[in-house]
Amino acid sequence: MKLHEHQAKSILAKYGVPIPRGQVAFDPESVQKIANDLGGGAIVLKGQVHSGGRGKAGAVKLAKSPKEAMHLSKELIGKTLFFPQANSHLKIDSLLVEEALEIKTEIYLAITQDRASQKDVLIVSTQGGMDIEEVAEKSPESVSKTWIDPLLGLRPYLIRQALFASGFEKSLIGKASAVISSLYNAYIGSDATLAEINPLIITSSGELVAGDAKWQIDDNALYRQKEIASLPAGSDEDPIEAEAHRKGIQYVRLEGGTIGIIGNGAGLVMTTMDEVKRAGASPANFLDIGGGAKAQSVRDSLEIVLSDPDVKGVLFNIFGGITRGDEVAKGIIQGLSELNVSIPIVVRLSGTMAAEGTEILKGASLEAVATMQDAASRIVALSL
Ligand code: GDP
Ligand code: MN
Repeated sequence: MKLHEHQAKSILAKYGVPIPRGQVAFDPESVQKIANDLGGGAIVLKGQVHSGGRGKAGAVKLAKSPKEAMHLSKELIGKTLFFPQANSHLKIDSLLVEEALEIKTEIYLAITQDRASQKDVLIVSTQGGMDIEEVAEKSPESVSKTWIDPLLGLRPYLIRQALFASGFEKSLIGKASAVISSLYNAYIGSDATLAEINPLIITSSGELVAGDAKWQIDDNALYRQKEIASLPAGSDEDPIEAEAHRKGIQYVRLEGGTIGIIGNGAGLVMTTMDEVKRAGASPANFLDIGGGAKAQSVRDSLEIVLSDPDVKGVLFNIFGGITRGDEVAKGIIQGLSELNVSIPIVVRLSGTMAAEGTEILKGASLEAVATMQDAASRIVALSL
């Protein structure tokens, strides 16, 4: 799960990293009010979308006064811009309105997972700002990497080593160590897979402040990050995908398709998508109920797929291993009785407890189809 900058910054603040004063606004009047409340000085406006590279995309603007901030925000709010880093058009529906800081230096800080070494890695560069990817490519020696033993955590001496290795200004090493230590605690405490501060601003008065923050949470940990899991989806997120992920369901919405697909196992779901194509229609989504799914999550999956107005028919493709056909059938029946289902559903059941599942489905006048090719042609014909 990706967080917005303001959400990431509130995690940072909770763990003691200094952040600029500011607030989120959804309309120009609030922008002006927040800007006035911040003292009436220079303001930075930042579009809250899930992409980096907002500065270059035109979603970060500096204003000299609350009035100018209000005028600039009129152009930004509601605007859809192209973000090369996310490779998509995203709509800005809110702005983070912050006091503009006087930047002396921009530092890059990040902690993320390094799968190759099976460790977290701390990345520090004194050439922070907008183009860290370019810095890493052109002058890799100016980017210091420090691998973190998961049992020992990020020890203070390692932080100092990283700062010295990156050529950090000596007089600020104490302050920077405190920031990195808090960043690590925030990363661990929020079950993040990426925690990035770019830039960490060194102000002209020698203060260290997180100017920007990019954060990703491990979806598998959302069950114990209740506060984060309940954050509202932004306008640049697909609302159905966001709801599915909150329910712990692997779901990807696809554009232009009409057949909702629910299967167990990513490979089987992808094969099902191919079969739907071969039968002459297009899949509306990818949904994997996973191994050993219970009736409730089958019901929830059906609800997610049905909430997509493009879906004209639903195809279940279940090959039972640890997933049991009777559990799946119970979930479908539960869905039929609780949800308002007005489109055709075809079920292919095979493997563990398929016969029992087929019996249960018969009770609800749903027929189980034996092969996935037949099931695909059937649902395509029924949904035309
Ligand atoms: P990103 O492009 O999505 O990474 O957005 P950032 O929040 O990092 O902002 C991009 C750039 O805008 C920063 O690297 C700064 O150069 C500039 N910027 C952001 N906040 C401030 C600020 O408070 N004062 C000044 N002078 N520049 C800022
Ligand atoms: Mn940035």
